[in-house]
Amino acid sequence: MGLESNTRQPDPDCIFCKIVKGEIPSKFLLETEDLVAFNDISPQAPTHVLIIPRQHVKDISKFSSNQEDKTLLGTLFQQAAELALKLNLESGFRLVVNTGDDGGQTVHHLHLHLIGGRQMTWPPG
Ligand code: 5GP
Ligand code: ZN
Repeated sequence: MGLESNTRQPDPDCIFCKIVKGEIPSKFLLETEDLVAFNDISPQAPTHVLIIPRQHVKDISKFSSNQEDKTLLGTLFQQAAELALKLNLESGFRLVVNTGDDGGQTVHHLHLHLIGGRQMTWPPG
C-alpha cells in the first residue's frame, strides 16, 4: 500500500516542517527540490548533519515500494554520501536512521543523520 496523500502534508507542530518552511531560520548545507540538509542542534561528532525530505513523512516504515518512494529514499542516501565527500569525510562516516520510540527517534519527521569527523564505535547505545 502506498502513502496516504495526507501523510505528506506539512505538520504545523513538526519542528522539521518549520525548518523546511523557513519558519525556524536555518543554514542549509544542501537544498534541492526534494530535501534539505542542516547541522544538528546538538552535534554528537565534529560533523553532524541532518538530511530530511521536504515532505512530512513520519519515519522510514511509511515508505512503500512505489517508484516515487524508492526514488526519494535513494536520493536521500545518494545526496548524503555526496555531502559527506564535500565535507571531507572520505575516510569514513556513519548514516543513521532512528525509527520509532525503541529506535531512539525523537523527531517524527524522517531524517538521516550524517555523522563523522571522529572514530565511530560499535555497538551504538
Ligand atoms: P532523532 O533522535 O529523532 O533520530 O534525531 C533528532 C535530532 O534532531 C537530534 O539529534 C536533535 O539534536 C536534532 N534536533 C532537534 N531539534 C532540532 C532543531 O530545532 N534544530 C536542529 N538543527 N536540530 C534539532
Ligand atoms: Zn514534518
